[in-house]
Amino acid sequence: MRIGIIGAGQLGLMLGEAAEALGMECVFVDPSETPPATSTGRVIQAPFDNEAALAELGQSCDVITYEFENVPVEALEHIPGDTPLYPPPAALGVAQDRKNEKALFAELGIPVPANRSVDTLEELEAAIDELGMPAVVKTRRFGYDGKGQVVIREAADVQRAFDTLSPQPLIVEAFVPYDFEVSIIGARSPSGETTTWPLSRNEHRDGILRTARGPVDDDALYAMARDYIGRLLDHLDYVGVLTLELFVADGKLLANEIAPRVHNSGHWTIEGAETSQFANHLLAITAQPLGATALRGSPGMVNIIGDFPAAARDLDDERLFLHDYGKSPRPGRKLGHITVVAASEKERDELLTTLDKL
Ligand code: AMP
Repeated sequence: MRIGIIGAGQLGLMLGEAAEALGMECVFVDPSETPPATSTGRVIQAPFDNEAALAELGQSCDVITYEFENVPVEALEHIPGDTPLYPPPAALGVAQDRKNEKALFAELGIPVPANRSVDTLEELEAAIDELGMPAVVKTRRFGYDGKGQVVIREAADVQRAFDTLSPQPLIVEAFVPYDFEVSIIGARSPSGETTTWPLSRNEHRDGILRTARGPVDDDALYAMARDYIGRLLDHLDYVGVLTLELFVADGKLLANEIAPRVHNSGHWTIEGAETSQFANHLLAITAQPLGATALRGSPGMVNIIGDFPAAARDLDDERLFLHDYGKSPRPGRKLGHITVVAASEKERDELLTTLDKL
């Protein structure tokens, strides 16, 4: 089985590693010279929307997927018609525009922060009058890791937020005083078989995921999150792995966004669950039965961001697993992560605290 993957970053690398273990082969399309996934398969060096590259991928692969959600949906039309492409491009279209995303959540009865789409300064001012402050202004498209957003705390911030983010279409959201953030990751196969991993609790720093740990020990929250992601998976007739990020406030969940792909908050599933998000994504898109998602011990992970501490390479502890994406250092760039699989939550949390200080 040969899998075509659009994007060859670290998610491609980990998909490639999972594919190897499953006896599958990967071919990637990526514009970079030596992207992280290079060690796991051939990379066709071309822009993500290059017609010839996508056609080649379609001709040489059994199924195509993507590890990057800013692939232009129109570009996917260059893939020959009989090669399946999963997740469905409709999911990509939803995830690429926060307005579409909010509309879908509303249609499916999934609660969201109060929000308004705005294009002009006058509309932004009117939206802030309605929603109150603080509020978060975000670009509707192409935001990631906290980029493309500004928090409005007082009236003087409105003009600054507009100048910073316009002329792009914007969305304003009421600021949620959340207790913590979680994500749920689900996998669905073409037969409709669906599975989820236990809830991950996620902490961000400077808008970038820093730590993730599972499970969140709250059956009611988990049941609610499973219900919400189940509605999305079925509605989109989804195939592959989908991530839903949520705020937890007063015991309730509010949806923030979806990612139609494997996700950083699920990296701990590689060593910390019976089947990883990467393996189940591949099993789903190749129409094979999904693997069990039960946890192994108490898992968590810390991201290595910006520069790679030498101490991270010297760790010698069978509870720790270092993943180096082979990327050059740059402020705010995800260079790797360390998974912890501990015997108890207390032990896991202590290890994550130590790793956080490396
Ligand atoms: P996003 O790009 O939408 O995932 O936002 C990045 C991070 O900003 C989230 O993980 C939250 O920590 C924070 N954030 C985004 N939207 C809101 C909101 N409406 N209220 C409070 N915090 C938010």
